[in-house]
Amino acid sequence: MQRRRFIAGAVCPKCAAMDTIVVDLDSDKRLCVACDFSEDRPTAPVKVKEVPTRVSRGISRRTETVAEPVRLMDPRSPSKNDP
Ligand SMILES: [Zn+2]
Repeated sequence: MQRRRFIAGAVCPKCAAMDTIVVDLDSDKRLCVACDFSEDRPTAPVKVKEVPTRVSRGISRRTETVAEPVRLMDPRSPSKNDP
């Protein structure tokens, strides 16, 4: 079973029908439900490159260590783990 999502306002380049283009969420392919048009995802997925450097990681870790105890000790904060 394929998971598909319609693209609102998308026009099929093959049969020119509107709102017939779906995206296959598993393969990222675009398909037309009105004809047999299918196309790989045209644009490459934008990946945020996370390049941890020793300097930035050291700073953020030190900041967390300072801020965390203050939040955790607040007794009025409801536990989100308990529904
Ligand atoms: Zn089509």
